[in-house]
Amino acid sequence: MMSPGNGGLTVLTTVRHARQALAGRSIAFVPTMGALHEGHLSLVRLAREYADEVVVSVFVNPMQFAAGEDFDRYPRTLDSDTALLQAEGVEWLFAPEASQIYPDPPHHAVDTMVHAGPIGDQFEGAARPGHFDGMLTVVLKLLNIVQPKAAVFGQKDAQQLALVERMVADLQLPIEIIAAPISRETDGLARSSRNRYLTPEQRAAAPAVFQALQHAALRLQEGVAAGEALAGAREIIAAHPELEIEYFDLVDRRTFLPTEALEHGLLITVVRAGATRLLDNLLVYR
Ligand code: AMP
Repeated sequence: MMSPGNGGLTVLTTVRHARQALAGRSIAFVPTMGALHEGHLSLVRLAREYADEVVVSVFVNPMQFAAGEDFDRYPRTLDSDTALLQAEGVEWLFAPEASQIYPDPPHHAVDTMVHAGPIGDQFEGAARPGHFDGMLTVVLKLLNIVQPKAAVFGQKDAQQLALVERMVADLQLPIEIIAAPISRETDGLARSSRNRYLTPEQRAAAPAVFQALQHAALRLQEGVAAGEALAGAREIIAAHPELEIEYFDLVDRRTFLPTEALEHGLLITVVRAGATRLLDNLLVYR
């Protein structure tokens, strides 16, 4: 355990120290994979409203990356992450090595794991087999270690949020899940640690994703049928040769099943810019 620095941030790197230090405290928890940006900080500010102290974790979870994904080159910027959290007045940073979370070699395996139900079958679950099982397993581990009263997840990863909400309900965890709105650049691009992979040309085209989402939401609110609204949105993205749609759909935000009902309607998309997947979504009614 590192003693508090200027900003009062204490860095915890082992499960034993984290349990000792955090026991009995009123905690709101923000799990992350680091490479922190303004979007993560908006979650931290929201967390502050739900408990006396904020714990942020930085852990790039090997179990939720498939072979060939970007686990090795995922940005790791712990020094600047620490400085940002310190400036934000966060009390605790939990930044364990993989061997702390997965003590059994090869340090990314467990025998017992959480299986994402039907919400995890489509979209990101279909594109990234095993991703959501790995994500839910590590989230449950982190919740068990930190024992927060509330945990904050970004609407940016809407399918992840729906799965975590479902896990907490199914497994009766005594934790309030808080959904944080998507934090965007001024041109509308949803903030993401992976945006740094974009070339200048791809970055210039990327705001079309949010423009397409907004266009579709507007058309749906006007009463246009889902098929037509989605087709118009796809055209906006197709106008940019740098971008390729992986999916662009309207689903129920709680189940991720296709829907025509707008009340819980969520427009979801992944648009590829080169090797980078731009993940974004918009609630039809906010
Ligand atoms: P990550 O580090 O990418 O795993 O993200 C950690 C948390 O921050 C997750 O709950 C994300 O949904 C959330 N998050 C990441 N980017 C954004 C954003 N632009 N707006 C809101 N939440 C975000």
